[in-house]
Amino acid sequence: MKHRYLKNVTTLKLGQSKCTGCGRCIEVCPHQVLAIVDSKCSIIDKDSCIECGACVKNCPFNALEVRPGVGCAAAVIKSWFTGEEPSCDCSSSGGCCS
Ligand code: SF4
Ligand code: SF4
Repeated sequence: MKHRYLKNVTTLKLGQSKCTGCGRCIEVCPHQVLAIVDSKCSIIDKDSCIECGACVKNCPFNALEVRPGVGCAAAVIKSWFTGEEPSCDCSSSGGCCS
């Protein structure tokens, strides 16, 4: 079964105009978040992104952005291991983990 995280919380962003369609990000993504559609990278399953940053590190054209390990998705994952309530930077501003 595929992992699912909170909807629309990942910080993943794609600047498709910079993308050459090389496919490197797709090779390294552990959760099949990305795919080549019409010769360009496309985010096909955003809510499966765990903000690991592998795609960003491996994109030769800086077409991808993510804040690895600081977003709500990371907070939720950490809570699974610690058994505590999810807590991340956005709680003070009334975000999803407050
Ligand atoms: S940050 Fe990680 S999980 Fe998210 S799209 Fe990039 S490689 Fe995939
Ligand atoms: S690694 Fe970068 S340039 Fe290559 S397909 Fe992915 S987003 Fe596009």
